[in-house]
Amino acid sequence: MGKINRLDEHLSNMIAAGEVVERPMGIVKELVENCIDAHATNIEIQISQGGIESISIIDDGEGMDSGDATLAFERHATSKLKEVNDLWNIHTMGFRGEALPSIASVSHVLLRTNNGNESTEVEIKYGTLVCAKPCATPKGTMIEVRNLFQKTPARFKHLKSPQYEFSLISDVVQKFALSHPDIGFLLSHDGRTVFKTRGNGSLLEVLMQIYGRETAKSAIALDGKDNDYMIDGYIMQPQYNRATKYYMLLYINGRMIRNYHLQKAVMDAYAPFLPKDRYPIAVINLHMDAQLVDVNVHPSKWEIRLSKEKQLEKLIYQTISEALTNRLEVPKIKINK
Ligand code: ADP
Ligand code: MG
Repeated sequence: MGKINRLDEHLSNMIAAGEVVERPMGIVKELVENCIDAHATNIEIQISQGGIESISIIDDGEGMDSGDATLAFERHATSKLKEVNDLWNIHTMGFRGEALPSIASVSHVLLRTNNGNESTEVEIKYGTLVCAKPCATPKGTMIEVRNLFQKTPARFKHLKSPQYEFSLISDVVQKFALSHPDIGFLLSHDGRTVFKTRGNGSLLEVLMQIYGRETAKSAIALDGKDNDYMIDGYIMQPQYNRATKYYMLLYINGRMIRNYHLQKAVMDAYAPFLPKDRYPIAVINLHMDAQLVDVNVHPSKWEIRLSKEKQLEKLIYQTISEALTNRLEVPKIKINK
């Protein structure tokens, strides 16, 4: 007998969970991505105790039929990829088919979904299916994640205070709201509404909600283009700056990303206008053919590889330098309260 043993599905899901769902913020990120992929127009995120007690996410997207509602919790089960070539041409936020089984392996999950024809409820406790049955629920999907890491004390120990965990969630939800101004987001913590966007497509309005009216008023529209890339979004005038890099947001085809070289291109363009050790506030949307970007670098999907990175760095630098030099006029922000 050899010494190698094939891990059972529950154990491999728990291992995958280590990378995808390190903390409540990662769960919220994965679940909101699923709502976006389901073409939701409104996403409501209810958090209790920083997500340690519960995370509920309700969308009005396309929902699932009863078969898919249970299949969704199986490892590598996805509606977003079919064959190898799809991996080089990803148009959805998800594609790994890992988030739901990973989350369900370390928590108590309740899902209710309605695809317009039928409604299904699925309950899973720490990787074990408790029930799957018909139910009544509005069109879309509701997923509730409770008692995270209760059966994995080593992971539970690494969670910080509810306030800290919630601050990470709030940050990631704001990033989604900035990349998807056409979706209405509602975030609440322990029953209190903390953040709400209308989903009317106005990025300026979302900027104003997050950074305040004064800062948003200084927004300069970006408009850059070469043969492969297009840039839009807004950058703030240099006098509205920050002490950290975290306010320089970059999105590729609607996906929030972390990339040192692209961030550096932004900072280099700002350098003549900013004091040392200060960083800009910017929301930079990069649009490109999906085949130019490889998202399959890490399970959390924050990192990407670009096939023509230098070219994009140059375009970012030029677009921002020009915008800062010309200080383009921006349309007045309309506020409807
Ligand atoms: P992935 O998003 O990589 O496909 P997930 O584990 O996150 O993997 O989800 C598995 C599948 O469940 C998705 O491919 C999708 O078909 C379905 N699904 C998950 N969440 C939703 C949702 N909110 N609305 C509709 N379908 C969903
Ligand atoms: Mg997903």
